[in-house]
Amino acid sequence: MNQQTLSKRLERVAAHVPAGARLADIGSDHGYLPVALMRRGAISAAVAGEVALTPFHAAERTVRENDLTSLITVRLANGLAAIEARDGITAISICGMGGETIRDILDCGKAHLNGQERLILQPNGGEPPLRQWLMDNGYCILAEEVLQENRFDYEIIVAERDKPVRYSARELYFGPLHMQARSPAFLLKWQRRLRQKHKTLADFARAQQAVPEEKIQDVARQAQWITELLA
Ligand code: SAM
Repeated sequence: MNQQTLSKRLERVAAHVPAGARLADIGSDHGYLPVALMRRGAISAAVAGEVALTPFHAAERTVRENDLTSLITVRLANGLAAIEARDGITAISICGMGGETIRDILDCGKAHLNGQERLILQPNGGEPPLRQWLMDNGYCILAEEVLQENRFDYEIIVAERDKPVRYSARELYFGPLHMQARSPAFLLKWQRRLRQKHKTLADFARAQQAVPEEKIQDVARQAQWITELLA
């Protein structure tokens, strides 16, 4: 992966960035996503935010080597603090982190959101609490994708602020649009997850020390939901 050839995962994220967007890529690491999009003429400006020094320097280098310093600003900042009002950001990508981390970045950085931005989120697990945050904060899920790369299942959640929506507990768990679309990749992901849940339950049953009943019930409920989804 580099600034020309994105991973399949980031390529799918890129597909959800509106043409001509002013993008803030939070946790940009090498800055490959904004640089690739700018090289293709797909966005008009970008901010690459990084909280850690080494990836911040890597992003600066990628931007500099591609002669894009006038169009992409790299900032060392925690989460959405990388965004300034004068940037006029219209889309925010937060990718390659746990869903809870993405949720915390959004929650701590609410003051930096103007409510008009499209959020393009790519959590590595922890999708339910992230969907819960979106619902609680007036966001509607516009698109959802699941894809497999290097034997990992990745999800992409695209959301915009809209009229309030209510998602059921199962929609928060599986994804409301996924449940309607039932794509082959989605069903395969949950077939794999069901096998893992059954293995976990078997491990609990064999465990030397008693596993708390609450924990067993929680995994059993998830296995039941997945079985019903796949039925
Ligand atoms: N977004 C890239 C991708 O999807 O390939 C890089 C993902 S990398 C696994 C996660 C990056 O997020 C790291 O470079 C890390 O320093 C950065 N990060 C984690 N928490 C952050 C925060 N609160 N604010 C800004 N960057 C953060």
